[in-house]
Amino acid sequence: MTVQPNKVVSVAYQLEINNLDGEREIVETVSADAPMVLLYGMSGLPEKFEEELAGLSVGDNFSFNLSPEEGYGDIDEEAVVTIPIETFLIDGKLDEEMLQLGNYIPMTDNYGNQLRGCVVGLSEESVQMDFNHPLAGKTMYFVGSIIAIRDAQPEELAHGHVHGDGGHHH
Ligand SMILES: [Zn+2]
Repeated sequence: MTVQPNKVVSVAYQLEINNLDGEREIVETVSADAPMVLLYGMSGLPEKFEEELAGLSVGDNFSFNLSPEEGYGDIDEEAVVTIPIETFLIDGKLDEEMLQLGNYIPMTDNYGNQLRGCVVGLSEESVQMDFNHPLAGKTMYFVGSIIAIRDAQPEELAHGHVHGDGGHHH
């Protein structure tokens, strides 16, 4: 069995990016004991990531890069916004534990979309938040292996996600 659409694929990997000093830095490690489980073709991951796994078998290793264009796009300056501090008041109080530089805060935009923003600036009047994907503007270096492959259940295909270990429980 090989990696192809309608298969549930378990993947172990290590993700590295270049940090601000231009050195490679590990930002994510997914072990074989707790692999990422994806519904191939519907994973919601960058298309190139799925393409790179196509045709691999259990035990095969992979190593590839995704440029920002192939990954989460370039950094959008307009996605860094200043929000009045009143927006963050809960029952008239500020949650100071939440409002820390570098914290990610779930927000809802005017269209009801859920967004995660990173606090990048704080003043008494406002909070500056960056809604870029944390990996926007980064080249991603993936090294890993295929841990398991199985046929997706009809119900998983209908829902568009994996059920059971590493997936949805409902
Ligand atoms: Zn489901």
